[in-house]
Amino acid sequence: MLVKTPFFTERSLVSPARPPASDAVVSAQPAPSVPLTLAGRRGRPPRHLADLDLAARREAVAGLGEPPFRAVQLSRHFFGRYTEHPDDMTDLPRSSRAALADALLPPLLTAERELSCDDGTTRKTLWRGFDGALVESVLMRYPDRVTLCVSSQAGCGMACPFCATGQAGLTRNLSTAEIVAQVVAGARLLAKGEVPAGSVGPGGRPPLSPRRGPRVSHVVFMGMGEPLANYANVVTAVRRLTDPVPEGMGISQRAVTVSTVGLVPAMYRLAAEDLSVTLAVSLHAPDDELRDTLVPVNRRWKVNDVLSAAWEYAAVTGRRVSIEYALIRDINDQAWRADLLGSLLAGHLAHVNLIPLNPTPGSKWTASRPAAQREFVRRLEAHGLPVTVRDTRGREIDGACGQLAASALVSGAR
Ligand code: SAH
Repeated sequence: MLVKTPFFTERSLVSPARPPASDAVVSAQPAPSVPLTLAGRRGRPPRHLADLDLAARREAVAGLGEPPFRAVQLSRHFFGRYTEHPDDMTDLPRSSRAALADALLPPLLTAERELSCDDGTTRKTLWRGFDGALVESVLMRYPDRVTLCVSSQAGCGMACPFCATGQAGLTRNLSTAEIVAQVVAGARLLAKGEVPAGSVGPGGRPPLSPRRGPRVSHVVFMGMGEPLANYANVVTAVRRLTDPVPEGMGISQRAVTVSTVGLVPAMYRLAAEDLSVTLAVSLHAPDDELRDTLVPVNRRWKVNDVLSAAWEYAAVTGRRVSIEYALIRDINDQAWRADLLGSLLAGHLAHVNLIPLNPTPGSKWTASRPAAQREFVRRLEAHGLPVTVRDTRGREIDGACGQLAASALVSGAR
């Protein structure tokens, strides 16, 4: 059953904060559902080691009167061993542990609730921030990889009508460390052996039992929020996730995907960052008339602008861009739209990821009929495009694409 309020039940606890001025792209959005600016800016999340590069961590440690190499020890605990409690940091003098942890490892996100499905291999966590803001992350363990789907904002200002997150507007940007902390928490669960391997491996065979505990191999910025509207924190989080231990967590850049509605200036900026991450573009319609309604930011940056930026990203990075397309019955799944999409993408470094629409509360839309989906795939393939249809992991726990609404009360009662 998918009955759930479309609103954040605890939203009133949290005032939307003005996004940082450096992210000017946000204030240029057309008609977001909730004003992004409010008088009275709330405090920021406490400073955390993951907000700082190693040099700044050394300075912070020295400021506490500790030798700077303690910054490396703390970083190894956080990024490499996922140590949770200062008492377990036995390579630090007992007398320094509390002060160092208080200053550099403040608790940022508190797990409010965990839901799992798919034999425990899909796990959604609802997190509460220091100010009550709620976000969700989803861990998906596959036989050969573990993907962590992270949120970059509490809520989202992009107002896409088919997405649960979009219905409640933006609460605030997450800090770099709040983003990274979601991945570290998932890594810790895996390291503790708390995520089962599942019963089915590739080709229906039993899964291989890995010699070492599995790690978070992939990170997708496909949880709540528009990553490129929180540009600076997201890019820094990507660096922390992918820099080697102790600077960061050591995940491969190629295994990180940043997904965007198509904030064109920020896409060009990302292309110039010298990162090898995959860019995913949530297109959902090949024509401006429909995209204006499905992805309201299209009123500002049109399909052609978005695709030009995507091709620039592909040219600069050499990486195939993932074109995301939620298949919505009788809305965007017509054969002519498949052909139009195919002709726009043909010959470019693109991959199409079709997502059967996941139902969201109060929406009259649903996924395409199987025959329409097959025909859509067939027509795209006829244009020579690689096409995949995304699985719908996490649907039962409202953890699938577009279902993250962080509504503590209603989901908790299910
Ligand atoms: N704001 C970013 C990150 C969210 S990613 C973006 O839009 O790209 C989540 C992906 O799931 C996006 O491609 C989004 O369009 C898609 N999505 C949203 N709601 C959905 C739904 N109800 N069913 C299937 N996919 C959905």
